[in-house]
This record gives sequence, C-alpha cells and structure tokens, in this order.
Amino acid sequence: MSTASINGWCLTSSSTATATSFPLWRPTLLSSSIVATLNSSPSPPTLIRNQAVFAASVPLLTPSNWREDMGDKSYEEAIEALKKLLSEKGELKAVAAAKVDQVTAELKTTSDDSVERLKQGFVYFKSQKYEKNPALYAELAKGQSPKYMIVSCSDSRVCPSHVLDMQPGEAFVVRNVANIVPPYDQTKYAGTGSAVEYAVLHLKVQEIVVIGHSACGGIKGLMSFPYDGTTSTDFIEDWVKIGMPAKTKVQAEHGGEPLGVQCTHCEKEAVNVSLGNLLSYPFVRDGLVRKTLALKGGYYDFVKGSFELWSLNFQLSSPLSV
Ligand SMILES: [Zn+2]
Repeated sequence: MSTASINGWCLTSSSTATATSFPLWRPTLLSSSIVATLNSSPSPPTLIRNQAVFAASVPLLTPSNWREDMGDKSYEEAIEALKKLLSEKGELKAVAAAKVDQVTAELKTTSDDSVERLKQGFVYFKSQKYEKNPALYAELAKGQSPKYMIVSCSDSRVCPSHVLDMQPGEAFVVRNVANIVPPYDQTKYAGTGSAVEYAVLHLKVQEIVVIGHSACGGIKGLMSFPYDGTTSTDFIEDWVKIGMPAKTKVQAEHGGEPLGVQCTHCEKEAVNVSLGNLLSYPFVRDGLVRKTLALKGGYYDFVKGSFELWSLNFQLSSPLSV
C-alpha cells in the first residue's frame, strides 16, 4: 500500500499469523495490611488497615441507594455515608449485621489466604528484586523515563511486564478492557486520554505499542453484542463499541466464518482501530511528524505462545496531513 504499511514479524516461526492490511475504512489511518514495607514509613495510609479483608457476596445496599447517597464523595466520605445508611435503616442494619457475621465466618479462611498471598508476594519482590537491584530502584526513585507506552488488555493472562519481560521504569502501561485507545475526546475517555497525553508530552516516550491478545473477552463481547438499542451491561458495550469499525470490517471480510475465527481477526483489527485513533491526538501526530514517536501494533497469542509486532508507517505525502 502506498501511504500506510504494516511490517509484521513474529517471535515464533510456527505462527501462521501474518501482517494484516491496514484498514481502509478509516481515512485517518493513512496517515490485614501488608506489613512489609519499602521503607520505615511510620504508618500506613489511613485506608489500609491491619485487618482481614471483608467482601460481601451480595450487595448490602442497592446501587441506586449508593449512587443517590454517595455521589462524588471521597472514599472516606463514602464509608461514612455507608455507616450512616446502615444506622438510619434499622431493618437494613439488622439484615446487614447478620449477613456480615455469616459471610465473615464463611470467608475468613479465604480472606486470610488472600491477604497472605499479597503479603508473601511483596516480601518476595522486596527480597529478590528490590533489594537486589539497589541501583535501579535508586534511579527510579528520582523519576521515570520509560521508552514505551503500552496499551494492553486488563485480562489477567496478558500482563505486558511479564510477557515482554519489562523491568520497572521501562514501560508506562495503560490497561483496559480490550486494550482500546478511544479517539481524542475531551468530554469523555479522560482516563485513557490523560495517559496518552502524559506519556507523550511529559514522559516523552518513544513508542506507543497497542497489544491485542487471543481469546479476548472484550472483543468477543464486541462481536456478540447486538447493538440494536438494547443493552445488557452498564459499561462494557459502550466501551468496546469504540472498536466497531473493526467489527464491521471483520464481518464484511470473514462473516461466513465461525465466531471464534472472526474474534481472532477482530482482536487484531481492533488494535489497528486504536492505532488510527491515536492519530486523532494532536500531540501524537506532532510526535510522528517530528519522528520522536512511533506507533506499533502487537498481538499476543497465549495459546500458541506467539507474539506479533507491526509498525505503522506513514508518509508526509499522504493525502491527509498529520
Ligand atoms: Zn482482552
């Protein structure tokens, strides 16, 4: 292709995945508290308490009550509001007290195990990594200067620090459902947008890598939700529909194939949608033009154990100036 191309490579020779065509549907594409601590901090943050974690199996308050009474208050204010609700609603208080006793008894062992896992994890990290790399952590204490910004899925199996063997300080990471970068929009998507802004303008990362993955639940949702005016989720449908151009393209080109195959295609096309969306950020375009910033797409297949990477190349002679 003349103005945009993808140069794919793969770490495993057995992978059959190949570089995909850049989507043409998007003109812009042309272009108990853990007692081990790091230091001798005199006291833990006030919200971290040395007691078992409690989690109710069912909500004690309805979401509508929570939203109405807690609004935009801080966490501590929200806790106080919760106590107030419980005290004001005698019937609910009695029910809640009984439920607390029951669930606490049922979950005590689980909660203790959960806290112990976190504690031991940090103890291991501190003794085996933190204390064995004093130079690294002394340097990181001064500040960070990561080369990469990585956008990856929240899926517990695809942590980029593990998959790419990134060390602390190497990558500024954003994780969300389906590893999506939304288009530039100051009225929404501030979470991802602020991360892109901070990474590019303040950390001055050299590369933004958007990494999709196999068996992505978010992409399966995108491919499966009807989008016919009905909704079955509070957030997920609205979020993953950012990748709708990928779904449309996959359905047009692979509509006759099984859903699983279509999902695999969409997992990669959605990465390209995010790469295209990155071009809608003025500071990203500026970095590309100045050649201080590069964009890459990636795909991690944890079934095959393979990883693909492709680059977004563009030319200044593109019909669209970027
Ligand atoms: Zn995912």
